[in-house]
Amino acid sequence: MNAPVDVSFFTRAAKPLTSYRKYWAARFGTAKFLPTSRAEMDALGWDSCDIIVVTGDAYVDHPSFGMAVIGRMLEAQGFRVGIIAQPDWQSAAPFKALGKPNLFFGVTAGNMDSMINRYTADRKIRSDDAYTPGDVGGRRPDRAAIVYSQRCKEAWNDVPIVLGGIEGSLRRIAHYDYWQDKVRRSIVVDAKCDLLLYGNAERAIVEIAHRLAAREPVHQITDVRGTAFVRRETPEGWFEIDSTSVDEPGRVEAHVNPYLMVSDQAKANGATCAKEDEAQAVASAAETAAAVNPAIKPLTFVPNPALQARGRIKVPPRDRSVIRLPSYEQVRADPVLYAHANRVLHLETNPGNARALVQAHGEGATARDVWINPPPIPLTTAEMDHVFDLPYARSPHPRYADEDGSHDGATKIPAWEMIRFSVNIMRGCFGGCTFCSITEHEGRIIQSRSEESIIKEVEAIRDSVKGFTGTISDLGGPTANMYRIGCKSPEIESACRKPSCVYPGICPNLNTSHDPLIKIYRRARALKGIKKILIGSGLRYDLAVKSPEYVKELVQHHVGGYLKIAPEHTEQGPLTKMMKP
Ligand code: SF4
Repeated sequence: MNAPVDVSFFTRAAKPLTSYRKYWAARFGTAKFLPTSRAEMDALGWDSCDIIVVTGDAYVDHPSFGMAVIGRMLEAQGFRVGIIAQPDWQSAAPFKALGKPNLFFGVTAGNMDSMINRYTADRKIRSDDAYTPGDVGGRRPDRAAIVYSQRCKEAWNDVPIVLGGIEGSLRRIAHYDYWQDKVRRSIVVDAKCDLLLYGNAERAIVEIAHRLAAREPVHQITDVRGTAFVRRETPEGWFEIDSTSVDEPGRVEAHVNPYLMVSDQAKANGATCAKEDEAQAVASAAETAAAVNPAIKPLTFVPNPALQARGRIKVPPRDRSVIRLPSYEQVRADPVLYAHANRVLHLETNPGNARALVQAHGEGATARDVWINPPPIPLTTAEMDHVFDLPYARSPHPRYADEDGSHDGATKIPAWEMIRFSVNIMRGCFGGCTFCSITEHEGRIIQSRSEESIIKEVEAIRDSVKGFTGTISDLGGPTANMYRIGCKSPEIESACRKPSCVYPGICPNLNTSHDPLIKIYRRARALKGIKKILIGSGLRYDLAVKSPEYVKELVQHHVGGYLKIAPEHTEQGPLTKMMKP
């Protein structure tokens, strides 16, 4: 299952997902829907759940919904998985609805960060929620991952909490929170979870579930890739590296005042204008403020004396190295260090060479470190197929149906409606755009499904999804045309430290062939009963133009009349900041 495949040759030295011995409860078989109540558990003959997934979204049993992917994945390992979807968070009682889980609570805010789900960009509360039956707002709390974790602890203090999902992933180190307009602590500290799983969590959660089932205490599980947790000190045998040796903290450029063009006019008239110096004045003021603020302490890199041998510094082994980021208190006080810490996080995203990170939170008696293990090893094509071929019901749970038993009326779930006839063909992105979180969450190595698995899903939609009229609304992923694109050399890919394979230009080592994708498009649209295949996901047009045949194929067969292009900007200045061509 983990043999190299023709997608990216990235070495995947990890235990295959299907190689674990199944848990004894596999004898209960596969549930049509994972149970959401005691009555459903009784119908399945279960006295208890091994794992309970608590989520901020309505339960839709489809591979586009996190709780279904993780739930079905664990079920395939033999565990009994229950779902508590959108519980009332005012008390711990709804978190006891399925009884006490034998192994752990899996907590997620849902497919979106709960603050984005709850508020508009103007910080106004939303009245709708695309992940709730009837598109009704208010069914989840602010910062749902933290609130749910607290309620699970109140329900059963001795049950481990494993936090996952995008809210946990993107808040794993100290981070700027737009809604509070301040830098918040790592969510690991605020949620008091035992383990945080970031990125694609299948590999980590399967290993953790089996280790907890083997009675290993959760606090001893500190070596799983893609996890973060709190620890008091760096254990023996690890080499600490100061983050300034990885990336040099730089100054923050002042925002350009759009009215500066007035000075150009003044210059043309032989006069000067005070606004000319405004940007510099802003920058100088910021620097002066930093100089007088004692909370801002410059970082210094001190070579580790333990590493010096015969006058030369030995490079510590990467798998025993941990990079110490500036502390939460430092990044909160200094935007330069904040930007530096984030750059280091991004530099350490290649699973081939990433090192562990550590960030201190608090001082004195309350001091503790948030330890972040390197990112998970990407799934192979066979493992991706396994994840997408699990026995999903491809429908919202029957509890959300209206009085006619339908999910298309008043209880329609808009997010389900959107992906109902679409197929996800890959994960990940190597673009590295600075405004985007895909790399931070899904990773920079493309993980693609096989052609067979994709075609099988198109046929399953055609044959089993109610309301299908012959149009597949999307055959895509984070970037639709990165399917099966990756570095030509596994050695170079493993060692590469570049944050993007396509900026400032397309790397000569990148294999840009679109042939496998063209083949899938042709095969899918030729299937009986398929009238149209649309490509709704975004494309990298700089990659697409490398294959005129692909563009022709796309324009002639897979767009709804117009090919829409959405450039993020037209000016070189902002584009360079975005790392966009
Ligand atoms: S930037 Fe170039 S060398 Fe590095 S992984 Fe991407 S294609 Fe390979």
